[in-house]
Amino acid sequence: MAKQFQAIRGMNDILPGESALWQNLETTLREVLAAYGYHEIRLPIVEKTELFARSIGEVTDIVEKEMYTFADRNGDSLTLRPEGTAGCARACIEHGLLHNQTQRLWYAGPMFRYEKPQKGRYRQFHQVGAEAYGMAGPDIDAELICLSARLWQRLGIRAVTLQLNSLGSSAARAAYRERLVAYFESRRDELDEDSRRRLHANPLRILDSKNPTLRTVLAEAPALLDQLDPESRAHFEELQALLAAAGIAYDINPRLVRGLDYYCKTVFEWVTDTLGAQGTICAGGRYDGLIEQLGGQPVPGVGFALGLERLVAMLAAAGQPGADPEPHVYLIIVGDAAQRHGLALAERLRDQLPALRLRMHCGGGGFKAQFRRADHSGARFALILGEDEINADTVAVKPLRAAQNEQLSLPRDQVAAYLRAAALGE
Ligand code: ATP
Ligand code: MG
Repeated sequence: MAKQFQAIRGMNDILPGESALWQNLETTLREVLAAYGYHEIRLPIVEKTELFARSIGEVTDIVEKEMYTFADRNGDSLTLRPEGTAGCARACIEHGLLHNQTQRLWYAGPMFRYEKPQKGRYRQFHQVGAEAYGMAGPDIDAELICLSARLWQRLGIRAVTLQLNSLGSSAARAAYRERLVAYFESRRDELDEDSRRRLHANPLRILDSKNPTLRTVLAEAPALLDQLDPESRAHFEELQALLAAAGIAYDINPRLVRGLDYYCKTVFEWVTDTLGAQGTICAGGRYDGLIEQLGGQPVPGVGFALGLERLVAMLAAAGQPGADPEPHVYLIIVGDAAQRHGLALAERLRDQLPALRLRMHCGGGGFKAQFRRADHSGARFALILGEDEINADTVAVKPLRAAQNEQLSLPRDQVAAYLRAAALGE
């Protein structure tokens, strides 16, 4: 027997029983993003490796060890996108979307990271991201946070809290970096191998480590928030005032640094304690240097990305209905002579009633077997088309769920009107 194939580790099939929950989630996300005036941008899944190295940063988990990188047939180094911000920025620069204009954009789709697969952490996962360009003030930071808060509200997710921090300007970060290196040097023995390697290349990143053995040394590290530059401090204070005015609660977490290099000033995460270790459902912040770093004019940017798998897990745990709706009608077709009439009837009803969910029986079989299928389908009505009905130009209608379930016979041209009222309630 041939070997049975399995999906790549950490890459999940989303099965028919699960896809309805995904669709509901995606619909809500789209509606809220549209309500705030964000436009969708669709981006390639593959980009030049150099784009990610330049934007995310060489000394990061993603670029050092998580990217799916390969040489294409030309020998160019390409990478499956590990996140969406780099590609979005690249597209905006390439198409001149940032010249004397602001942009509010969103994207959705699969991202790829070679991580250790576990609950809430996969190698192909899905993000929805929002990005706003050309606005330097805290008002747009606040808008994005309000937008994300509204997503949770619309999705019925309550167990999330907002963590907020500021990473300051690049000058403030440079000064802080020196203090941090000195601190970590003084406690070198307590660092793990990764952190020692990063000590000089990227000490801020050590703060982002998930290694529990580093907890104490991280907790006692100096905080950047204590030495913010005046401009970043004013930005951060105004952001807090705006969030307070919008009624959004937050915790300031001076340890919060994002895993990617391009952040400055505002950083935030929405976290939950209902998902175990993988508790961040949405993360974002400001990246004023990114566009310039990628060769564009300096244009400020701010955005977030949320992880759909983690949201789906929260919705499923909260018992949100995830099933596709049942058909309204199951069409039973008995006998060879009825086949063509059956298909024609089904198509006519679909013309007349676009909202009707009609499942046509395919594959033949006797009345009894088909009727059982109709019952199992959850349909509210069975339509029956057999030899008698064809001869009389009628269709039999059998209500399947009502107390009043007398079968009736309708002229074929009256079936649509009957179903419009009885099944669709129009
Ligand atoms: P984490 O701290 O969980 O590793 P991250 O800092 O690497 O997350 P980002 O790059 O900011 O995450 O991505 C934004 C969001 O995308 C995360 O908050 C999370 O919800 C989701 N996400 C990131 N990596 C994965 C993954 N491997 N599997 C599933 N979801 C993920
Ligand atoms: Mg990560």
